[in-house]
Amino acid sequence: MKINNYNFRLKLIFSYIIIIVVIFGFSAFLDNVLLGLFIALALSFVFTYKISIDSKNESDKLVATLNKMAKKLEDKINEIEIKNQHLVAILESMVEGIIVVDKTSRIVSVNITVENIFSISKKNLEGKIFLEVIRNNDISDIISAVLKKGEFTSCELTLVWPVQKIFQINASPIFEKGIVNGCLLVIHDMTEIRKLETMRRDFVANVSHELKTPLTSIKGFLETLLEGALDDKENNRHFLIIMQNHTERLNKLVDDLLSLSHLESKEILLKKDFFSLYQQVAKVITNCGAQLKKKKIEIKNELPVDLSVNADRDKIEGVVTNLIDNAIKFNIESGTIRIYSQDQNGNIKIIIEDSGIGIPEKDMPRIFERFYRVDKARSTELGGTGLGLSIVKHIVELHGGNVGVESVEGLGSKFWFTLPKQ
Ligand code: ADP
Repeated sequence: MKINNYNFRLKLIFSYIIIIVVIFGFSAFLDNVLLGLFIALALSFVFTYKISIDSKNESDKLVATLNKMAKKLEDKINEIEIKNQHLVAILESMVEGIIVVDKTSRIVSVNITVENIFSISKKNLEGKIFLEVIRNNDISDIISAVLKKGEFTSCELTLVWPVQKIFQINASPIFEKGIVNGCLLVIHDMTEIRKLETMRRDFVANVSHELKTPLTSIKGFLETLLEGALDDKENNRHFLIIMQNHTERLNKLVDDLLSLSHLESKEILLKKDFFSLYQQVAKVITNCGAQLKKKKIEIKNELPVDLSVNADRDKIEGVVTNLIDNAIKFNIESGTIRIYSQDQNGNIKIIIEDSGIGIPEKDMPRIFERFYRVDKARSTELGGTGLGLSIVKHIVELHGGNVGVESVEGLGSKFWFTLPKQ
């Protein structure tokens, strides 16, 4: 549409400017600058689209300026939109949970981590009073304190409800024109970190304890010998044998600890090659001959003669040795041991079944943990360190397999591990 009437065009342009100013001002009043910008731009588009420049007079210049202004506005809105998208992307990719509440403790927005932590969807959180949806008085108290004092607060909380977790909570006030208008909560899930710290502490305590027992004994017998027992022809040899046993135990403990730390270091490289698992098991059985004979245990290698695996031969030998050694140690006199395999969805499952003392149900979930023993005294007496099964688990997992146990107390156990079929 061409507008030739100069006065009319001028009026149109002035009304256009007034509309933009009024909407912009009104939207700023409503705290929604983005909406204002958008409406202003839409109007500018409509108007500038309709007004065409047909001469080089003043009004045309004005129209050109307005067109320029509209373009600038559009660019600005695009820029704000992009920044907004970046902000949303940052918030959603944060591992920390983010909650923004207003001055009435009503949740304004949350990120996806909060949904995961509390297992509540965004739509059930946003717009609700905090305590109504996350029923935790401790966090609610922190929010109230921040809204009241306008000061940053940080603390660690152990929550039991609505989830059983440990959180580090940082709460900052949000100011608007110098007045506290809301609170920003940054929630860091510390559960795993604290669990690992406890495990590390327990491990150090266990190692120290395991080392201290034989050392105390060696020291005691040494002192006895030095104080005169050296000349006691009847007992001195006996004392030396006890000391030798404890030294062997210390040696085994240090060896096992080194293997474990090596396996856990992740730098370990498996020296894989194809070998006959049947023959490897047969070799371990031969090595355990004396132990088997002593306990009159009958052992059967029922693995297929042609069963080959692509794995680290020495490490798998270690796994089999550990499991057969346990099957002998915790077996009854004249008991039996069977070693056989099963096909399991592309994996080979190797089972070591014994007729031994079995494992109580309550101990089974922890049996592969470091230093976990059903009967500590019995294990120590049998020369165990409590690290064997944990080493087995590490080696098998490094090969991409799994370990497990089925057992009935008093009847026997089936320890198994899987290896991928290659
Ligand atoms: P260790 O044998 O040195 O004590 P392991 O890590 O090999 O340590 O085993 C941990 C514990 O698991 C043992 O102390 C024992 O209580 C239990 N256990 C392992 N194998 C068997 C088995 N075949 N039968 C019964 N209990 C077993």
